[in-house]
Amino acid sequence: MAIERKERHKIPEQAPEVRRSNFEEVCTGFDLETAKAEATRCLQCKNAPCRSGCPVAVRIPEFIKALAAGNVAEAGAIVKSTNSLPSVCGRVCPQESQCEKFCVRAKMEGPVAIGGLERFVGDYMLNEPTVQSKTKANKRVAVVGSGPAGLTCASELASYGAEVTVYEAFHKPGGVLVYGIPEFRLPKKLVQAEIDKLAEKGVKFELNCVIGKSITVEELLAENDAVFLGNGAGLPMFMGIPGENLNGVLSANEYLTRVNLMKAYDPESPTPVLRGKNVCVIGAGNVAMDAARTALRLGANVKIVYRRSRTEMPARAEEIHHAEQEGIEFELLTNPIQMTGQDGWVTGLTCVRMQLGEPDAGGRRRPIEVPNSQFSIACDTVIVALGTSPNPLARTFGVALNPKGTIVVDEDMMTDQAGVYAGGDAVTGAATVILAMGAGRKASKAIAARLGLTDGE
Ligand code: SF4
Ligand code: SF4
Repeated sequence: MAIERKERHKIPEQAPEVRRSNFEEVCTGFDLETAKAEATRCLQCKNAPCRSGCPVAVRIPEFIKALAAGNVAEAGAIVKSTNSLPSVCGRVCPQESQCEKFCVRAKMEGPVAIGGLERFVGDYMLNEPTVQSKTKANKRVAVVGSGPAGLTCASELASYGAEVTVYEAFHKPGGVLVYGIPEFRLPKKLVQAEIDKLAEKGVKFELNCVIGKSITVEELLAENDAVFLGNGAGLPMFMGIPGENLNGVLSANEYLTRVNLMKAYDPESPTPVLRGKNVCVIGAGNVAMDAARTALRLGANVKIVYRRSRTEMPARAEEIHHAEQEGIEFELLTNPIQMTGQDGWVTGLTCVRMQLGEPDAGGRRRPIEVPNSQFSIACDTVIVALGTSPNPLARTFGVALNPKGTIVVDEDMMTDQAGVYAGGDAVTGAATVILAMGAGRKASKAIAARLGLTDGE
């Protein structure tokens, strides 16, 4: 039988000319009626191909069915059975390359808006009573890092009945969700609401605490039955070209952390961030888009400088589209070879034009320099967004590391130290929020089994 055509409902968003000068959320989300209408587009496929694209295997058709019937709390309970942060994932997951990519409607008039529906349900659940954990089992677990891997691990272990304490180096919990992702993509009050829910479940948070310095992993292990390391990958990479140490050159990591976490956008803050007029952002991943769109909102003209073409840009299509709509310019097939300056401050980028050659080991076409193509871009700020690697602090944990500094784990996410587990970017290198959450969930299961909390599940 032919499938009835039903157009996808567009998630409402602020107009580009309005949002480019405010930090409020770009997408404003579905209302109940539109969410229910979108939910009716789901064909309730028996084999649910969408689910195979979700790293935490959200029971997608089931929650959408409950939502279509108007049972939002039931839909929320179904989502939360495998995903502890749905309002976050509904916003920041790259759905187009995950769940929605595999939706059978994707090849027709467009996939079911799984992310938008999950966001709606997740937001609804923030106002619902917290589901209390099992009776406490007198088992203690320390979770290092309060990003997506740590929060997920903590939430799941609390549900199993463990007493969980999360240790966070910063003064606010949330990890990359608060220091990395800007307010206009993921409002901080929402992350805090998810954390409040965890606290209601009994999870404790110790802030301003650097594990490996203030307390060692051995000390943590002496006081706990297991430890989970979810310390992320916060060490920025640079190009290694002349001029990179000029004033006005920042890593995207520093720039975003200062704006997002330290209110550095406020000139009255103790550490206001530099407000460039002409900003170049080097790189084309999600972090580059976040940095560029933040600089734009702080009043700059912004150019993204990227050595490959648009096809190879690693950022989500939606983020690139939003950046373009807001007026960010793209200098593609352009590679900076030097940062020039005056009186110690950056004044420009010297670049060469590139063309694409044969695919490299990763399958992306390799950029090759065009001879005699040197040119300059004037700027007063450069933000380098070329990715991050694990912080060298991981070396103080005493667990085995790979040559690139990521933590070695077995198939149960356990390190070479019995009872010490790890997951997220600290293990994989910089990846997505949902992959980190998947790792936190996997480790929580292994920890719960080790501590005898699973009742034979
Ligand atoms: Fe899709 Fe992410 Fe939700 Fe999974 S968690 S269903 S990938 S939006
Ligand atoms: Fe619904 Fe698409 Fe999943 Fe089928 S593949 S169950 S239509 S969301």
